[in-house]
Amino acid sequence: MTLALPIIDGDGFDDWHWQLRNRITGKDEIAARLPLTADEAAGLDAAPGQFRVAITPYYFSLIDRDNPACPVRMQVIPSARELQNEPGDLADPLGEDSHSPATGIFHRYPDRCLLLALDRCAIYCRHCNRRRLVGKEESPISRDDLEEALDYIRRTPAIRDVLVSGGDPLTLSNARLEQILAALRAIPHVEIIRIGTRVPVVLPMRVDDALCTMLKKYHPLYINTHFNHPKELTPLARAACEKLADAGIPLGNQTVLLRGVNSSVRVLRKLFTELLRCRVRPYYLFQGDVAAGTSHLRTSVETGIALMQELRGHISGLAIPHLVIDTPGGMGKVSIGPDYVVARGPDKWTLRNYEGKLVDYPQPADKDATCAYDEVYFSGSQAPHGHEHTP
Ligand SMILES: *Cc1c(COP(=O)(O)O)cnc(C)c1O
Repeated sequence: MTLALPIIDGDGFDDWHWQLRNRITGKDEIAARLPLTADEAAGLDAAPGQFRVAITPYYFSLIDRDNPACPVRMQVIPSARELQNEPGDLADPLGEDSHSPATGIFHRYPDRCLLLALDRCAIYCRHCNRRRLVGKEESPISRDDLEEALDYIRRTPAIRDVLVSGGDPLTLSNARLEQILAALRAIPHVEIIRIGTRVPVVLPMRVDDALCTMLKKYHPLYINTHFNHPKELTPLARAACEKLADAGIPLGNQTVLLRGVNSSVRVLRKLFTELLRCRVRPYYLFQGDVAAGTSHLRTSVETGIALMQELRGHISGLAIPHLVIDTPGGMGKVSIGPDYVVARGPDKWTLRNYEGKLVDYPQPADKDATCAYDEVYFSGSQAPHGHEHTP
């Protein structure tokens, strides 16, 4: 098979604006670069008007053109199965729309909220759980809507942690992103800011000195990124993570467990230990959300738990994320995992270690766990930051 076009074309490969301008989006563009399977061709035929497809030339260059099972390929080229829904699939799998007190705000937990700053991403993931919102028109959230969202945070002192997400906030210009971060930083009760982004994975050249110099003005700032397979940890992606870490930004990673992409012990061990080498701490491993059109990429809960069992004890605890289900209908995240408790009693618990051996943990006789100093510490005079926002 001869392919008319190379994967990488153009001189601007190192320029993130060039990467966004030259995204590969349509069936013909993809078919000119790799031989499509019938399933992929049908998925791409169905895409227009149904779901977004866009791949940066950088991320496209990681695709194995000879193998449709390539984990990068499966994350960006749609399958005809995206047209199929299973019972229980939802357009809004996390019930976000019903927990939205202002456009762009999802406030599910007492002390933290999500701020969706835009609906554009650098690539469109086949497993996206916000596909109902993301990338239809590629319009940024309006300035009025953003101002209203910021106002909600200003008048809600219980919010001490704001997650800026989208869409991908790092596809905004530095100036636009800085406006949002500066506005959040100016709110006294906002203690920490988090950014959720896939840019280090799919557009790593975006992470340059100018971005890092701007971001580090808004500490404490955390970034959670989204690597799903060790193949994505290229020298460029690693350099992007290191640069952010050098700017003092603690990095976490949220992986989505995807059937046939990363649903293997070898892949997850490699992914999580390699992330640590780039100073990225695995944070969450998500069971797939029940987002319409993504059920072919979900695994059973048993699979997720069996995989976790092969991580704990075998690799550094630092490399092990929490396995969570973000429950349908906005009931929030529930942490799940292997059950290491064999028996529980007032005198002792019997536990199973990672090798399957049983061991007893004797309980103390005195069950009272009161901290007598709390009264003093939380009286106001001793606490270094004596404000408690939790209602
Ligand atoms: C995931 C999520 C958060 C953050 O949850 P953490 O467990 O603190 O990382 C906050 N708000 C919403 C709506 C979320 O979905």
